[in-house]
Amino acid sequence: MAFFQKMEGLDDKPQKQELSKEIEKIKCLIIGSGPAGYTAAIYAARANLKPVMYQGLEPGGQLTTTTEVENFPGYPEGVTGPVMMDDLKAQAERFGAESRWGIVSSVDLSKRPFRVIVDEKHQIDAQAIIIATGATAKYLGLESEEKFKGSGVSACATCDGFFYKGKDVAVVGGGDTAAEEATYLAGLCNKVYMIIRKDYMRASKAMIKKVEETPNITVLYEHVTKEIIGDTVVKGAILDNKGKEVKIDIDGFFVAIGHKPQSQLFSKWIETDNEGYIKTIGTSSKTNVEGVFAAGDVMDPTYKQAITAAGSGCKAALDAEKFLS
Ligand code: NDP
Repeated sequence: MAFFQKMEGLDDKPQKQELSKEIEKIKCLIIGSGPAGYTAAIYAARANLKPVMYQGLEPGGQLTTTTEVENFPGYPEGVTGPVMMDDLKAQAERFGAESRWGIVSSVDLSKRPFRVIVDEKHQIDAQAIIIATGATAKYLGLESEEKFKGSGVSACATCDGFFYKGKDVAVVGGGDTAAEEATYLAGLCNKVYMIIRKDYMRASKAMIKKVEETPNITVLYEHVTKEIIGDTVVKGAILDNKGKEVKIDIDGFFVAIGHKPQSQLFSKWIETDNEGYIKTIGTSSKTNVEGVFAAGDVMDPTYKQAITAAGSGCKAALDAEKFLS
C-alpha cells in the first residue's frame, strides 16, 4: 500500500522539489493513519504531545479496503472499514491531534530532533516519531485480481470470510497464513480450494496436518492462477496445472501469499527482522533508536488485526509520552 511505493529507493534519489526553508518543529510525529496511527494520535493528543500525523497515500490504511469490520469491539452491528477510520480520525481530532494529507518521503534518524521530509518538500524536526506505516498484503499481480478486489477478491479471510458462508472459495498460497485462512474458511464455507504453485506446502507440519484433516479443503498442488473470472462478482478461476487448464467455480478468491511491512524508509536506522518487520524492545514499542517507536502491522508479524494494531498504537503513545517527559 501507500508508503511502500513512495519510499522505495528514495534515499538514492535527489529530492525532486526544492526543500522548504522553514523547518517546522513537531513534538510527536505519527507516520501512518491506520488503527495504530489513530490510536497513538488519540493518546498522544490527550497527553498534550500535540501530535501531527501524516496519512500517507492510503488514508485510513488497509481497513479502508475492507468492507464490513465485525470483530472490532464497540461496534455490535459491525462497521465498514472507512466509517471506522473516520470515527477514529474524529476521535483523535477531538483531542487536538492534527492529521494531514501527505507522504513522508525521507527521514534522517541519525540524531535528534529527527529530520523528516514530507512530499519531498516540507521539512520537519520531530522530537519523537511513531512509525505506524502498516503492512501491505502481497497480491498475484493479475489484472482480473485488481478488478474484483472488494467484490470477491480479498487478502483477509478473518475480515471477509463471513460473506462466503456456505459458498465455495479458493485460497492461494501454501504458507502458514494460507493454511490458517483455508482452515478458518472451511469452518464457514461449503468447499475451500487451496491453490499451491509447488508440489508441497511450505506451511508448518501442524498446519499441514490440520489442512489434511479438514474434509472440505481440496489442495491443488502445482496449480497456478491464470485468471479470476466473473461478471460484477467472482464466479470462478482459471488455473494452470503443468500446462493443463483447470477451471474452478468459486465465489471468493483469497490471496494469502504473504505480507510486506512498510519499513523500507527507516531501514537505514531501524532494526528489522529478516522479513522487514521493525524490531521492538521487549513488550514496549521502543525501537533501537531512542525516541522512535513502532506500532501496528509494521512491527507485528503475527496478529495483524485492527484491534491489536490499535493496542500497540496506545503503547507507542504512552512510551513517547514517557520519553518526552
Ligand atoms: P510465506 O512466505 O511463508 O508463504 C507464502 C506462500 O505463498 C508460499 O506457499 C509461496 O509459495 C506462496 N506464494 C508466494 N508468492 C506467490 C505467487 N506469486 N503465486 C503463488 N503463490 C505464491 O507467507 P505466510 O504469510 O504464510 O507466512 C509468513 C510468516 O509468518 C511465516 O514465517 C509463517 O510461518 C508465519 N506465520 C505463522 C503463523 C503461525 O504460527 N500461526 C500463522 C501465519 C504465518 P512458495 O512456497 O512456492 O514460495
